[in-house]
Amino acid sequence: MSADRAETAARLRELLETEGDSVQANTAVFNRGRYDSVAELDDYEELKDRAREIKEDAIERLPELIDELTESVEENGGHVYLASDAADANRYIEEVFAERGAETLVKSKSMTSEEIEVNEHLERAGIEVTETDLAEFVLQIAEEDPSHIVAPAIHKSRDEIARLIEEVFEPDDPPETAEELTMFAREYLLEKVTGADVGMTGANFLVAESGTMMLVTSEGNARKSAVAPDTHVALAGVEKIVPRFEDLAPFVELIGRSGTGQDLTSYVSLLTPPVESPPIDFESPDVPGFGGSDAEREFHLVLLDNGRMAMREDTHLCETLYCIRCAACSNTCANFQHVGGHAFGGETYSGGIATGWEAGVHGLDSAAEFNDLCTGCSRCVPACPVKIDIPWINEVVRDRINHGRGEGFDFLVDGLVPDAEEGGPDLQKRLFGNYGTLARLGSASAPVSNWIGSLPPARIAMERLFGIDRRRPLPTFRRETLVDWFEGRGGPRVDAVDADREAVLYADAYTNYVAVDRGKAAVRTLEALGVHVRVPEVPESGRAPLSQGMLATADEAASAVYGALAEHVDSGGDIVVIEPSDLAMFRADYEHFLPERSFERLDENSYEVLEYVFGLLENGANEEALRTGDDRVAYHSHCQQRSLNLEGYTEAVLSRLGYDVLTSEVECCGMAGSFGYKSQYYDLALDIGYDLVEQFEQPGERDRIVLTSGTSCTDQLDDLMTREPIHPVELIAPE
Ligand code: SF4
Repeated sequence: MSADRAETAARLRELLETEGDSVQANTAVFNRGRYDSVAELDDYEELKDRAREIKEDAIERLPELIDELTESVEENGGHVYLASDAADANRYIEEVFAERGAETLVKSKSMTSEEIEVNEHLERAGIEVTETDLAEFVLQIAEEDPSHIVAPAIHKSRDEIARLIEEVFEPDDPPETAEELTMFAREYLLEKVTGADVGMTGANFLVAESGTMMLVTSEGNARKSAVAPDTHVALAGVEKIVPRFEDLAPFVELIGRSGTGQDLTSYVSLLTPPVESPPIDFESPDVPGFGGSDAEREFHLVLLDNGRMAMREDTHLCETLYCIRCAACSNTCANFQHVGGHAFGGETYSGGIATGWEAGVHGLDSAAEFNDLCTGCSRCVPACPVKIDIPWINEVVRDRINHGRGEGFDFLVDGLVPDAEEGGPDLQKRLFGNYGTLARLGSASAPVSNWIGSLPPARIAMERLFGIDRRRPLPTFRRETLVDWFEGRGGPRVDAVDADREAVLYADAYTNYVAVDRGKAAVRTLEALGVHVRVPEVPESGRAPLSQGMLATADEAASAVYGALAEHVDSGGDIVVIEPSDLAMFRADYEHFLPERSFERLDENSYEVLEYVFGLLENGANEEALRTGDDRVAYHSHCQQRSLNLEGYTEAVLSRLGYDVLTSEVECCGMAGSFGYKSQYYDLALDIGYDLVEQFEQPGERDRIVLTSGTSCTDQLDDLMTREPIHPVELIAPE
């Protein structure tokens, strides 16, 4: 294993042991809340559409909105400064302190202030900075970075926080319970707030037409920081501007629900600074009129560019600017749940969308440190309140990272792999990105290829060169492919003239060369239901190169697949797909590669195999032609299948045929294609996989037949369980 991979593996192992449990427990609470809370909304999808429309429009008109907001704030009596980068913003803020002769700052939670490292900058200038958000306060005294956008100390347990406060403050009566810890921090921070010269907040949204800012917090520290001192500095990225006050409405509904699962966060503050209430004189609390202070209020809005205007011009990164920083993409991500933002994050931002943010504001190197932890499973996409295609942004950045780095020994894979990349991707990526070719060669040379792949010296060599973990069993290639088998049996068994429907079964690389039995079962099932089936040779979908950030290769594959299927689709035929990640290519990812009409045609005519079976049964096909039974089954649906909202079809078909179905509550198997084969991620993949195994191994559930709909889930469960999983279509197919 290379030194880099060994270091990554060691770091992930350490975080799994030290921070993983807290992150997992807390994100699980957020997710449960999100499911319950959005279920109460009748118009959840419409709200998301509206939120997206507003952000699309706002980013499109950003320069004009910046001008409008500047005018509004200045009319209100405030000052606006458009900072080009972190240094510029910090310089301006320091000047505000100098002009006011200010020495102390209290801060509300703000990721943008983390982005420019304002604390460090002001402290170097002799300013005393105090974080007033409880979690940020904990991190400040622990001298740590946030590990979550919304809940920065999510990785710390109550006991750890208690120990930390005892060590730092040495109180006579150390606080222990959550209430005691909160009270301790509150008393300590109250003193800082009342004595502060300047208060700093971020802003979740800024309204151009009125200069109003919306702050969403759970502790009210933003209100204290904004109005207790006489000087308020608000720091916000330019992307936070929305045109009108009424545009805030969908975000009020969505932000808390998406992030922490609250219907409404504890505090939603709408301030139009400088606020009109007089500053408070805490020295004279008994004097009427806020202590009788005659200090003037001062307000400075620092609008930060720091790469954002360039992101706006970038076709792919632009969508990142729609992000409302709710962290739903972190909470929903299995990898994030297990290692948290200290592994899955860059200099500031963490989780799924952090790759886009880091690439935009800090550069590719920062994004490269954790970009691979996005496996492209797509579970974050339906959770995002502004419908950002987060996996696509990650693949684009991965592609850019790939092309910014070369690696030696390319000759080992050149020729073996026909990718369209010009240098760049490392050996491991190029190997996994060309799985289709490897599978074809492995099948053509089976059983020798399987024998070689099982030899310990070969596994050691593969681990050293390509980072394929020697503990993970390799797929066994089949000499007779699905396409060969189909031809060998004489092609279709249901004539086109007798059939109601005609379908091409897409022989994906895994079904064609490895999991041939599930392909055969799919053919038997469809034919039993009266479908005229064909299984032609069709190129690999491009999923494998896409997942490695090899976009040129994926693009070529998309065109080749469409070329092979176009005639069939044009003549009204259906495409039936077994592998959900390939179906997700046809229904979602190809939008980025194919002309619009070609994408739409493939999207509209492609079906997941059990979805197709469901449709046939609903339209009168004879269910007795399939294998019915009262077996108890444990079913795990593939990530991309869930994102496409398809798992219900499998459950419905199985129930209709008499099976007793237990569906996995754990959303992810931890494999996500090649992920668990990679030596640096093997332990993490296993850690996630055991969550799934745990549910299926509960007492009373061990007799269930294990069903998995995706290759990666099958591989993972096959390795972790004694029961061998099968695809649902293998259960219901007639003999
Ligand atoms: S990308 Fe979407 S889900 Fe993730 S933080 Fe931004 S708005 Fe929330």
